[in-house]
Amino acid sequence: MSRINVMQPWLGEEEIAAVGEVIASGWVAQGPRVAAFEAAFATAMEAEHAVATSSCTSALHLALLVAGVEPGDDVVVPSFSFIATANAPTYCGARPVFADVDHVTGNLTAETVAAALTPRTRAVIAVDQGGVPVDLTALRDLCDPLGIVVIEDAACGAGSTYRGRPVGAGAEVAAWSFHPRKIVTTGEGGMLTTSRPEWAERARHLREHAMSVSAAARHASVLAPPEEYTEVGFNYRMTDIQAAVGIVQLGRLPEVVRRRRELAASYRKQISEIEGLRPVADPPWGTCNFQSFWVEVGPGFPLDRDGLLTHLAAGEISARRGIMAAHRQPAHRERVTGPAALAVTERLTDTTLILPLFHQLADSDQARVVQALRVTQP
Ligand SMILES: *Cc1c(COP(=O)(O)O)cnc(C)c1O
Repeated sequence: MSRINVMQPWLGEEEIAAVGEVIASGWVAQGPRVAAFEAAFATAMEAEHAVATSSCTSALHLALLVAGVEPGDDVVVPSFSFIATANAPTYCGARPVFADVDHVTGNLTAETVAAALTPRTRAVIAVDQGGVPVDLTALRDLCDPLGIVVIEDAACGAGSTYRGRPVGAGAEVAAWSFHPRKIVTTGEGGMLTTSRPEWAERARHLREHAMSVSAAARHASVLAPPEEYTEVGFNYRMTDIQAAVGIVQLGRLPEVVRRRRELAASYRKQISEIEGLRPVADPPWGTCNFQSFWVEVGPGFPLDRDGLLTHLAAGEISARRGIMAAHRQPAHRERVTGPAALAVTERLTDTTLILPLFHQLADSDQARVVQALRVTQP
């Protein structure tokens, strides 16, 4: 019996050819292909400005800085997210304040954010968790009048839509990931998108050591102009090798989302017949790319979540525990505001698992997964 992975990136000959061209060109660091990838990404996501970065984590750091987050500020984040969401505010000397999530979507809501606001709240990081679009308008209606910036962590969101537009399009600033676990991959890589030209300019500046003249501009002239470092910046650049892969991957996105939604619909239909399992769904305000197809294991199911993971593993099916809870990790444990405040987070992180779903997943393999979920009473 062959093993079914939980996730596999979809890469092919086009990516290999694109990388070969970059290497043959002799220009491998941030250059023309990064600029072309930024332009293509901005068009695809209906963003005004796109700034490529080394990862979503570095894009989140830059987003917080351009939004004006300073030491001593509070940033509201979901605990129910990959650790990077909670880590990013600490890079600015700010404190992540954990808010709970909605049981159905796994995302922040205006109610859970309102409960976590403090007089020092400067920003909120709203995640499109697992690709489920967050109800951004509700968060902005709460935060905009208070002067609190809503940053969208769209790491998982490429190909999901919110109110008829790509996720991220309604945010002042959003951060994206191109890690292979996400929908579009460049190996490692990220993007910051923003509606504000001055924020895009500052992000470009900070990602390149806050250098007054870009490296690309310096190399373009025989006698390089002298550069100045106007503040302490970072090296958060993407390479042209990565961007070349990203351009090809972005072209694959519509086809990837179509297949993922087809597989998700098939899972949903069959899992709805199994008592005690609740699969993730599109929310009323948008469509999901199903970056993570998660299922909640309820009390009506014969096994608990860990029991079901073990059962699937025995059938050579590699599922995964659902989204983590950052407030339980040693790195952030001391920041917990109180157990009752994160009740839904704790429940979802303990009862959800992620099923195999990726572009190349064969229908017959999906049928094997569904068959394995039909657990009879032990
Ligand atoms: C994966 C992920 C990140 C981090 O992305 P990197 O590109 O690996 O830095 C941040 N936030 C969320 C919600 C993620 O899922």
